[in-house]
Amino acid sequence: MKYSYIALILVLLGTSLSQAQNPIITELFTADPAPIVHNGTVYLYTGHDTASVDADNYRMPDWYVFSSTDMVNWKNHGPKLSPEVFSWAEGDAYAAHVTERNGKFYWYVSTFHKKNEDSEGGAAIGVAVSDSPTGPFKDAIGKALIVNQMTTDMPHGWDDIDPAVYIDDDGQAYLFWGNASCKMVKLKDNMIELDGEIEIVELDNFIEGPWIYKRNDLYYLIYAGRGQGAEQIDYATSTSIEGPWEYRGIMAGSAENTFTIHPAVIDYKGQTYFFYHNGTLPTGGSYRRSVTVDYLYFNEDGSIKKVVQTKEGVKPVK
Ligand code: CA
Repeated sequence: MKYSYIALILVLLGTSLSQAQNPIITELFTADPAPIVHNGTVYLYTGHDTASVDADNYRMPDWYVFSSTDMVNWKNHGPKLSPEVFSWAEGDAYAAHVTERNGKFYWYVSTFHKKNEDSEGGAAIGVAVSDSPTGPFKDAIGKALIVNQMTTDMPHGWDDIDPAVYIDDDGQAYLFWGNASCKMVKLKDNMIELDGEIEIVELDNFIEGPWIYKRNDLYYLIYAGRGQGAEQIDYATSTSIEGPWEYRGIMAGSAENTFTIHPAVIDYKGQTYFFYHNGTLPTGGSYRRSVTVDYLYFNEDGSIKKVVQTKEGVKPVK
């Protein structure tokens, strides 16, 4: 009764009851965050975990879009893309990444490829495109951008996942991706064609989930690496997007109650934010994950202070 009364007073005062918290999305299970900042708004693209509580594998039917202007209150725009949009795809909606170029929004996704004339099957990366950050999105190519057979340094069929695109200051776009090894290739200005050979990026302790971030002329390659019984976040730096990359250590420890962790970093309204996921929602776990956000801080020499993973989350910004 007392709390209802306080709530009523707050509502009358026009104060939102919505408070900072982790995870930031609580009405469904989300994973593999990929945020961008566009026209003053953060758009957050995520996977969607729908596995049952006792499942021992992923079930991820689609990708969602959320947006926020204060980093605390997130609007759910709904499921805006699924593997069904790609005629060549079969399987789940694994990690993805969105980037904007010349007013178009390119959603790079990982899923699995049907056996056909373009692929013998295995994981693949496709691209969807839209004129709006919230869609509608359609297949930008009509076929996959990367198929498993294009990389052969790893024997397993799911090494071509987890795309991350970075457009450098000179306009050159790069696609990074991979499981067990990190791959990189230049993209043409149209963002849907490769521009050169695929290279293997040498990184210590790499498992998957690369993310590129740049600060003070230093490039950061952030990724999920091998931790103690679960993934952790490691990072490397370079003065060139094309490397070589110097290993700089652990950026974040393993996430609570889930085997995987998946990094994303953005600057917004004067702060740097680290997006990841954990398994802390009620009934959560490795296959029922939730996107979380905490602050990211740097040392004077450009190294990253190890992320403190909190339940409180970040404070709202104006
Ligand atoms: Ca491959």
